[in-house]
Amino acid sequence: MASLQILHRSVLEQIHQACLLAKRMPEEVRLLAVSKTHPSAALREMYDAGQRAFGENYLQEALAKIDELKDLNIEWHFIGHVQRNKTKLLAEKFTWVHGVDRLIIAERLSNQRESSQEPLNICLQVNIDAQDSKDGCQPKEVALLVREISQLPHLKLRGLMVIPAPNNVHAFMDAHELFEKVKTEHLHPEDWDTLSMGMSGDMLEAIQAGSTMVRVGTALFGARDYSK
Ligand SMILES: *Cc1c(COP(=O)(O)O)cnc(C)c1O
Repeated sequence: MASLQILHRSVLEQIHQACLLAKRMPEEVRLLAVSKTHPSAALREMYDAGQRAFGENYLQEALAKIDELKDLNIEWHFIGHVQRNKTKLLAEKFTWVHGVDRLIIAERLSNQRESSQEPLNICLQVNIDAQDSKDGCQPKEVALLVREISQLPHLKLRGLMVIPAPNNVHAFMDAHELFEKVKTEHLHPEDWDTLSMGMSGDMLEAIQAGSTMVRVGTALFGARDYSK
């Protein structure tokens, strides 16, 4: 099937155009392919199209794919809600975890990451637009969490992750402002380089506001079927 390859090229082209519009360098924005609900065969095809970073939301599903695709050099990102009792597998199997929103979770991930592995890349999830059904720490908690989490030995705190309500451009701008502001709290400010925001429906606005990593599912793989 050539179709996933075409979708991949088209999304990369959209990112490129959005960067030009925003007067940013195209290499400043990474594409994370969000592959939840899609079978390993689809990820393999996307990999053959050149994609290396894949994001999964559900741990059991992700672990099965990590095993099925272990012959590939995939960078696995966990973008779902992090439960306290799941941190060990996350620390072992993933390269990035985006949904960290409490110190205790970060401490567990750091303790459970093997010293023989590279530090685990972390984004701090912020509830940037005060949604009540949402995960993420409050914006006012971010500075202290950055100070604390950036000291943990087996983590590399890379930046912030937000999931605002669709097309909330203001929330993207708020996230960017916060991202710039709290950098000074980081023990290793040179590690602070990632603002994970923007999905299929709003990646252009997110890039305009300063996103460095868009998490794209539907535009790459087509609609998800949750009935299977
Ligand atoms: C599912 C998901 C995405 C991808 O959403 P699309 O609209 O399909 O691009 C991005 N981020 C998170 C956290 C998700 O759960």
